[in-house]
Amino acid sequence: MSGLPPSATRPESIGPNDDGTELVIRWQDGHRSSFPPRLLRIACPCAGCVDEMTGRRILEPGSVPPDIHPRTIEYVGRYAIQFEWSDGHSTGIFPFEYLRSLCPCAACE
Ligand SMILES: [Zn+2]
Ligand SMILES: [Zn+2]
Repeated sequence: MSGLPPSATRPESIGPNDDGTELVIRWQDGHRSSFPPRLLRIACPCAGCVDEMTGRRILEPGSVPPDIHPRTIEYVGRYAIQFEWSDGHSTGIFPFEYLRSLCPCAACE
């Protein structure tokens, strides 16, 4: 994600969308990312989900329930958030830069 201004990786707000099915991050550069929770759970960057040596994903996407959702969201310092997921998993730390790179909108793809 090089070439983006710093405001592109600073959230203005983080919260559920209107019907509570997606997690919306509004960025300080005005961009809006709406994430299906399952997409984020599958992209978990923790050592239990990704092999630290090879970068290979250990987590089987098929093992993630379709109705997965975050129970809690906590800020980690000023650079990341951490989810406690409904499947009990909570070791993944998602830096804002990483979240921005995961944005599934048409403009980012
Ligand atoms: Zn993980
Ligand atoms: Zn986007």
